[in-house]
Amino acid sequence: MATETDTKNPTTTESAVVDGSALAGRALAAAGVSHMFGVVGIPVTAVATRAVAAGVRFIAFHNEQSAGYAASAYGYLTGRPGVLLTVSGPGCVHGLAGLSNAWINTWPMVMISGSCDQADFGKGDFQELDQIAAVKPFVKVALKATSISEIPRIVQTALVTAVAGRPGGCYIDLPTDVLHQTISESEASSLLSEAANPIPPQIPDPEITEVEKAVSLLRHAQRPLIVFGKGAAYARAEGAVTKLVETTGIPFLPTPMGKGLLPDTHELAATAARSLAIGKCDVALVVGARLNWLLHFGEAPRWSKDVKFILVDVSKGEIELRKPQVGLVGDAKRVLDLINREIKDDPFCIGRTHPWVESIRKKAMDNAAKMDVQLAKEVVPFNFFTPMKIIRDAISAQGSPAPILVSEGANTMDVGRAVLVQREPRTRLDAGTWGTMGVGLGYCIAAATADPDRLVVAVEGDSGFGFSAMEVETLVRYQLPVVVIVFNNGGVYGGDRRTPEEITGPHKGDPAPTSFVPGAAYHTLMEAFGGKGYCVSTTDKLKSALSESFSARKPAVINVIIDPYAGAESGRMQHKN
Ligand code: ADP
Repeated sequence: MATETDTKNPTTTESAVVDGSALAGRALAAAGVSHMFGVVGIPVTAVATRAVAAGVRFIAFHNEQSAGYAASAYGYLTGRPGVLLTVSGPGCVHGLAGLSNAWINTWPMVMISGSCDQADFGKGDFQELDQIAAVKPFVKVALKATSISEIPRIVQTALVTAVAGRPGGCYIDLPTDVLHQTISESEASSLLSEAANPIPPQIPDPEITEVEKAVSLLRHAQRPLIVFGKGAAYARAEGAVTKLVETTGIPFLPTPMGKGLLPDTHELAATAARSLAIGKCDVALVVGARLNWLLHFGEAPRWSKDVKFILVDVSKGEIELRKPQVGLVGDAKRVLDLINREIKDDPFCIGRTHPWVESIRKKAMDNAAKMDVQLAKEVVPFNFFTPMKIIRDAISAQGSPAPILVSEGANTMDVGRAVLVQREPRTRLDAGTWGTMGVGLGYCIAAATADPDRLVVAVEGDSGFGFSAMEVETLVRYQLPVVVIVFNNGGVYGGDRRTPEEITGPHKGDPAPTSFVPGAAYHTLMEAFGGKGYCVSTTDKLKSALSESFSARKPAVINVIIDPYAGAESGRMQHKN
């Protein structure tokens, strides 16, 4: 008897053996996809199971938002597109969080969503949505398979496009009827081999005359600075940037996620003298970092109004937008190699006793000494600094390979950025270009699957943790080596900071919009699934929880009770609130 699918699908025959779901799974495996993140359901459950059967590891989440964040961070960490699988309609909408995160951070990702039956579109079908239109603002390409034969080519195109030029998100739409269509094994094999191995487009080098101009500017600068960001980290430019810094003696400043390309402890690090470095430099070589809000738009008064920028970015549009003195469009590693080659013929080094280098060094040491005074105090009930120092020392004691740090929250992230030390590239994942809260557990899972040799340590505010807290079950299910440290100050920014005049009106008895249940037992969430939970409010207990959980390399939540009135509303961004 003909099934409903057969009657809708005239291509079904007795000899058909491969359906759309199986073909999608095999196409992903054939294209080298090793991991996929997502939430299964109608109509994509079989896509996940068939992909697993074809050799892809599927990490099943509770929420597409976290799975999407995981896929985006996986793309950043590995240089290969992170793949997200969602159901249709609402699943696709939830997945937009991850897709837009990939877009704004310029990370490669492919979102695959099932969608409603093509024949029923426009009639109010189950989970119907014009998904191609919904994803458009956030993708490099949005591709819909209108028949089974298009699946392998579309999969390859999306994966290649995601990493080509400026990385970003791509979208694949798989309608229910296409997933149910069937073809013969020999047709499937030939479609898969026709689609295989597309040549990834090469990123051309910049003109050598532009490289010469850049080197000349650096050579003649009085107060040069090298700034690098997560684009340089993505390009794996750590060797080239280290060589440049060490041959020229130019101080450097990483952006938050650029931290670790050179160790934060390097003697030329200007991180602790940031305001001086950007305020006084006369030439800044900026590699793989946008002159956006994180770098004060490259404008006065935070930068000198006469500063000359040399920008290195894979995106021509980005360079045209910022109008630098010299723009070098290309891959960061490759461009830095060209700069190093150019310098090699006529080397220069500004030397450790140069007044510019000495002033940065002195300022950095003064600021570090002030921070040390702050960190030396043992404040209980905990402020943000006392537990952060203990965490810093515990992470540093892990040596190499260094743990991957995931950080989100307002005060927790701000204090963490200043106190925690990054020594290896791509070991810091934080709220990024959008300051996105809710990335935490997704990023942890991405880090643990992308780099299984490393411990993953999340240092999160309780508000940030709450966005993705249910994914602690995912950590336990896959037994991932992730320790989540929750700075629990009882709310968004902590306690109720309203003035008496603000506490008025018919709902004045409600909790403040910034407040959560005080002293929430977040550690018991982890215990509910068989992981290890700790609740600590003293230095000794925190040290012992860190030591035990880091050695165990098993899922754990450490609930660190913080004084609800420590820290500030909006962290360091109070001017925006
Ligand atoms: P950060 O947040 O660290 O300041 P941004 O996200 O603002 O960094 O900037 C990263 C930049 O890096 C983007 O403009 C992106 O185009 C660029 N980029 C991405 N990949 C590469 C690469 N391989 N080489 C050079 N630039 C890159």
